[in-house]
Amino acid sequence: MHKLGTIAVHGGQSGDPATKARAVPIYQTTSYLFDSTEHAAKLFALRDTGNIYTRIMNPTTDVLEKRVAQLEGGKAGLAVASGMAAITLSILNIAGPGDEIIASSLLYGGTFTLFSSTLAKMGIKVHLVDSTEPDNFAKCINDRTRAFFGETIGNPSLDVLDIERVAEIAHEAGVPLIVDNTAVTPVLCRPIDYGADVVVNSLTKFMGGHGTSIGGLIVDAGRFDWTNGKFPGLTEPDPTYNSLIYTDAFGEIAYLMKARVHLLRDFGPALSPFNAFLLLQGLETLHLRMERHCANAHDVATFLTGDPRVQWVSYPGLPTHSSFELARKYLSKGASALVGFGIKGGYDAAVTFIENVHLLSHLANIGDAKSLVVHPASTTHQQLSPDELVAAGVSDDFIRLSIGIEDVQDIIEDIDQALACTK
Ligand SMILES: *Cc1c(COP(=O)(O)O)cnc(C)c1O
Repeated sequence: MHKLGTIAVHGGQSGDPATKARAVPIYQTTSYLFDSTEHAAKLFALRDTGNIYTRIMNPTTDVLEKRVAQLEGGKAGLAVASGMAAITLSILNIAGPGDEIIASSLLYGGTFTLFSSTLAKMGIKVHLVDSTEPDNFAKCINDRTRAFFGETIGNPSLDVLDIERVAEIAHEAGVPLIVDNTAVTPVLCRPIDYGADVVVNSLTKFMGGHGTSIGGLIVDAGRFDWTNGKFPGLTEPDPTYNSLIYTDAFGEIAYLMKARVHLLRDFGPALSPFNAFLLLQGLETLHLRMERHCANAHDVATFLTGDPRVQWVSYPGLPTHSSFELARKYLSKGASALVGFGIKGGYDAAVTFIENVHLLSHLANIGDAKSLVVHPASTTHQQLSPDELVAAGVSDDFIRLSIGIEDVQDIIEDIDQALACTK
C-alpha cells in the first residue's frame, strides 16, 4: 500500500477502461445497460457485481469511495450527499426503535440536533456524555446499547477524543465505535489505527477543501464482529434481497454493503457524480493543504496568545489547551485549522471584530482554503438561553476561526487590524 500523499493523488483509480482518460471521468449517468435479462436478474439479487443505478453506485463516485477508504485505512467506503447523511446512515444501519447510542456531547451542531431531537423522535435514545472522561461512556452501557460515537476534535472546545480508550470500552461492551473525523482528516489522524470501527467524514470541509461541494463518506474498518447477537439487521435474512444475510454474503464489509444496498437504496441521499469529481480534485492536494492549515493555525494561535486584547486562546496544538497531551498522541502531524479565542470586551467587541475583518470570510463553515470566522453567540447559537450557551461551551466573547492556506502574515495582519477596532 502506498503512503498517504500518493493515495491522495492516485487511490482508487485504475485507469478508465472506455477512454484511457488520465483524469477521473465524470460519469454523469443515472443508469447502466444490462448485458442480458439474466445479467440484470443477477445484479438485482446481488449475485453479480456491477452498476445498476447511480442512487447506489457510480464509477466516478466509486473512485472517491475507494480513495477515502484507503486514506482512512479502512476496507470499503460509501459516499453520500452530505456529512449529515453519512452520520445518519451510520447510525440507522445498526440501530432502531428501542436501541441506544452513547455519544460525546462535544459535537458539531447538526449532529447534536440529530442526536438529541430527531433520533429521539424515531425511538433511538442517544446518551450524551462528557467525553473528556472516557469512563463516562461505560456508565451508560446497557443491553440496548448499539454504538459509541465521538468526534476526533470536539466542537466547540476543540477537545481531542481519546480514541484508543473509548474504542476499548466500546469493544468490551460488544458495540462499535463510530468516529467523525471531519475536523482533522486522515492526513492528521486515522481513527481506525486506534480501534475505531466506522469513520464518517463531511467531505464538504477539508477533504473537498475549496468550499464548492457538499458530500459525506462512511468508511468501514472491516474488523468489527457483527455476529454477537446485537445486530440482527446484519445477521438475519433481508426479505428485500431474497433473504440474503449481509454477514454471510459480504463478510468483513457487511456493514458498509448494508448501508449501500439497503439504506442508500431506500432513503436515497446519493452524491452527484459531478460533486464526486470536484471532491476528488480537492483530495489530490489534501496532504499539502493540511500541512499549511496546521502551520498557519499554529502561528495564528501563538500570535493571539501574546495579545493584550485577547482574553483566552483555545488550540489543541498549544500546551495551554487541556487536550495538549492527547493532541501529541493523536495529532502529532498537526492540530488542524480550528482556533478559538475570547475577545476582551465580550459580545460587543466580538461583533465589532467580525464586522471589521476583510480577508477573513464571515460564514458558518470550516475547512475551506480561505480563512473563515464566525461568532457563535450571535449566529449558530443565538437561539440558546444563557444557561444553554454555557453548557454548549459558547461564551459571548467566543470567536471561532478556521484558518486557511493563505500567506500567514496577511491573515495575522487582518486579525490584528480588526482587533484594533475593538478598542
Ligand atoms: C460540517 C460537519 C458535519 C456535517 O457535514 P455536511 O457535509 O455539512 O452535512 C458533520 N460533522 C462535522 C464535524 C462537521 O464539521
